[in-house]
Amino acid sequence: AAKLGNSGAIIYSPDIDKSSQQSLSLLSELRAALEQQAFRLYVQPKVGLDHGKVVAVEALVRWIHPERGFIFPDQFIPFAEQTGFIRQLTHWVMNEAARVCQVWKEQGIQLKISVNISTRDLLDQDLPGKFAQILQTNHVEAASFCLEITESAIMDDPVRAFQTLDRLHAMGLELSIDDFGTGYSSLAYLKRLPVHELKIDKSFVLKMEEDIDDTKIVKSTIDLGHNMGLRVVAEGVENLAVMNLLKEMGCDQAQGYYISKPMPSADLPAWLGKWQEQ
Ligand code: C2E
Ligand code: CA
Ligand code: CA
Ligand code: CA
Repeated sequence: AAKLGNSGAIIYSPDIDKSSQQSLSLLSELRAALEQQAFRLYVQPKVGLDHGKVVAVEALVRWIHPERGFIFPDQFIPFAEQTGFIRQLTHWVMNEAARVCQVWKEQGIQLKISVNISTRDLLDQDLPGKFAQILQTNHVEAASFCLEITESAIMDDPVRAFQTLDRLHAMGLELSIDDFGTGYSSLAYLKRLPVHELKIDKSFVLKMEEDIDDTKIVKSTIDLGHNMGLRVVAEGVENLAVMNLLKEMGCDQAQGYYISKPMPSADLPAWLGKWQEQ
């Protein structure tokens, strides 16, 4: 079951009892949050390591709870996935990302935007159609979007997941394998999926300076990605030393607190101005 703790954290355990009062109330709180516009789209910049410019952003959702305040996605995404609420949330995120993309375009800001996609989304046969509709309504091109997918999202029902991913790819959306290296079959998916990008998981990047094994894993992943013709992004870049190391290794893009923490999407244009002045 899951419930909202006093500290604002949602106490969650995977053996969720759907009939329990607590789960039901959390689910109704999530639904209310959607209606009351209590979700916020945060974005975190990705920088091109060869020129230092911002080339893309990742969309990351936050929940501003009326009583409990700011809630991070780790506190409600797993529950949303379990209950199927994630489909509505992903729809909201995609729509908001497309809207923001259009607003930025009018301000002369052209950035690729990445959206995280879950298992339940990939099992939804209508997902490609829904995305096509969102893109059309907001007058944005599919090529402006990249969908970040984790291995666990594919593993549930690989046949259906592959079908959906092939259709999304055919629409012109880019695909990225998120948290690369943390699962069991990353390599098999790399072979089977029409992917454009690999994201090296932050667990390897965070300790690169101290741990020679992590450095070797990161370097090997960059080479693997490049050999397969993919763009390689490192997440969890927290200092200049790691940023320089990644650049030396030929990594394409970096994302992390050293560049910026995720920020409200409305703050990005001003932040970009300051970044470019540096
Ligand atoms: P993720 O997709 O792997 O996203 C990267 C996470 O790493 C984000 O946490 C980001 O804030 C954090 N991060 C970025 N740079 C650094 C760094 O330098 N150091 C450290 N320690 N962390 C860094 P966040 O925003 O709390 O999101 C957590 C997870 O929640 C995401 O992991 C993703 O799996 C999920 N999530 C977030 N938004 C969405 C969404 O809209 N839809 C879905 N399905 N999942 C989402
Ligand atoms: Ca991600
Ligand atoms: Ca990740
Ligand atoms: Ca992750």
